[in-house]
Amino acid sequence: MLAGSGFVAPAPADDRPVVRIGVLAYRGTEEAASRWAATVAELGRALPDRRFELVPGSAAFLTGAVASNRLDFVITNPGHYLELEIDYSAKAIATEQDMDGTSASEAVAAAVIVPARAEDLWQLTDLKGKRVAAVAPDAFGFRAVEREASERGLDLRADANMLFVGYPVDGVVAALRSGQADAGVVRSCVLEALIAEGRARADEFRVVGRRPSGTQRCHVSTRLYPGWPFVQVVQTSPGLGRDVARVLLAMQPREGDVVWTAPEDYQPVQDLYRTLKIGPYAPFSRLGMLDFAWANRYWAMLAATAALWWIIHVMRVAHLLRKRTAELQRAHELARLKGEQMEHTVRLSLMGEMASSLAHEINQPLAAIVSYARGCERRLASGTDLEGVRAGVERIAVQAERAGAIVKRMREFVRKNPSRQVPVDPAAVLADALALFEPTAAGRAVTIETDIPAALPTIRADRLQIEEVVLNLLQNALDAVSKQPDGRILVWSRVRDHVLDVGVTDNGAGVAPGAVPLLFEAFFTTKSEGLGLGLSLSRTIVEAHGGHLAVDIDTPGRTTFRFQLPLIEEHAGV
Ligand code: ADP
Repeated sequence: MLAGSGFVAPAPADDRPVVRIGVLAYRGTEEAASRWAATVAELGRALPDRRFELVPGSAAFLTGAVASNRLDFVITNPGHYLELEIDYSAKAIATEQDMDGTSASEAVAAAVIVPARAEDLWQLTDLKGKRVAAVAPDAFGFRAVEREASERGLDLRADANMLFVGYPVDGVVAALRSGQADAGVVRSCVLEALIAEGRARADEFRVVGRRPSGTQRCHVSTRLYPGWPFVQVVQTSPGLGRDVARVLLAMQPREGDVVWTAPEDYQPVQDLYRTLKIGPYAPFSRLGMLDFAWANRYWAMLAATAALWWIIHVMRVAHLLRKRTAELQRAHELARLKGEQMEHTVRLSLMGEMASSLAHEINQPLAAIVSYARGCERRLASGTDLEGVRAGVERIAVQAERAGAIVKRMREFVRKNPSRQVPVDPAAVLADALALFEPTAAGRAVTIETDIPAALPTIRADRLQIEEVVLNLLQNALDAVSKQPDGRILVWSRVRDHVLDVGVTDNGAGVAPGAVPLLFEAFFTTKSEGLGLGLSLSRTIVEAHGGHLAVDIDTPGRTTFRFQLPLIEEHAGV
């Protein structure tokens, strides 16, 4: 059997280069050797400087030998050739041609034979549910029948009971005769040969599902395929290939022998493999995948489009997210800058409002300086009161320092300083505010009183801002009492419930009850020259210190604006 196939050892004395020709021995090595003997003999005769050797074997054995480069040529069936061509780039250099006039392109076909008396078997589709004998699942004849059946909607392996009896083909005939099989698959002309040899009666079998047999003189059940090719392996030198092809094509036909013709087109074999999705077209083989992809190209395009859409969508979302985040950051930055700008603008507005009082404030020390200077001048002229001159110069210096302090405070206030809360003595802050206010109140018919304990607990505050609040309240109180004949303003302070209470009380005209809710609104003013920012800004400052600025109009004839400042922890219990 095929398992015993192998290389034949060369004769010892012969050192000519050996050319190995693998042959598919589907009916045993001896049959193969005798079938191709004439071809090998002719090659040996025409190319005497080489020794030609036949290497018979199964398709798997021959494929392995080609893969390991142990063969130069292969003679095999068209199906096996297709695999060698696709996997190992082997190429047919000639096609077998029978001497009986059959065209080389129509050399191979198969016949499905059944006992002549079988009543129900006429078409290939009648094989459904029947027992069908064949030599092997990969025999080319069986494949050819499988294709015809599959094109008629019948899957032989699934819909019929297949019985593979192995080579030689006589086993198929035996299975039919013994009743083991209802039908058998054989190569075309096998039946005719059996009859000619007297091994079968002419009325014993008939061929079902007959098709046009072309140049074949036998009955066939399949379409016709080209004959066996003489195949050159890719490693074989082109020169040797040319020599062998020349000898093959020039072989003189002799009765019973095979002759060779130019290589045929093996496309029909390829179509068969593709239809059955086998060999190189098996589902997971390279070509099978390509075929699968082509067959499902519309789905693949749909899937690819969907995937593309998804990728674009994800990228778009990511892009939008980045854009929105950047926009948000820009908006925040803008808001922050605007806030800063706003604060600055408010300060500048206050500056404007205060410019007139500043002029007034500075004027006072300046007027005092001028008056003291004149006094000193007079005393120096008389040359008598040097002590008076010394006192006058001292006062000039004090007034000049006061003017300088006023300017410095204004400058500090206008500067864009963020709130700096540090521990401070509230009594000192109030004293400073009162000192600053002194020039403004001077010359007005108003009494400013204070009720501030000498020792107050420390608070955490921005000194300048708190001074600003107190100055605002003092200014408002002054405005409120300006028309009073006995205007009085009281600045007071109390420690109560962990907070410091600070208030400015006046006996002015008071606030109209309807105006109370509007007092702390920016730009609310009842004064012709007012800006309406003082209380709004003061409340903002107090709240930034964790306190609350409120008005108290409950006592008739007294208006009090008061606010709280938190004590530093260690004094909280005081
Ligand atoms: P402005 O002093 O520029 O008007 P304010 O915000 O400081 O701005 O004050 C808003 C308004 O609150 C004043 O116009 C005035 O009508 C009222 N007001 C503030 N303090 C007093 C007060 N002590 N007595 C009466 N009304 C006051």
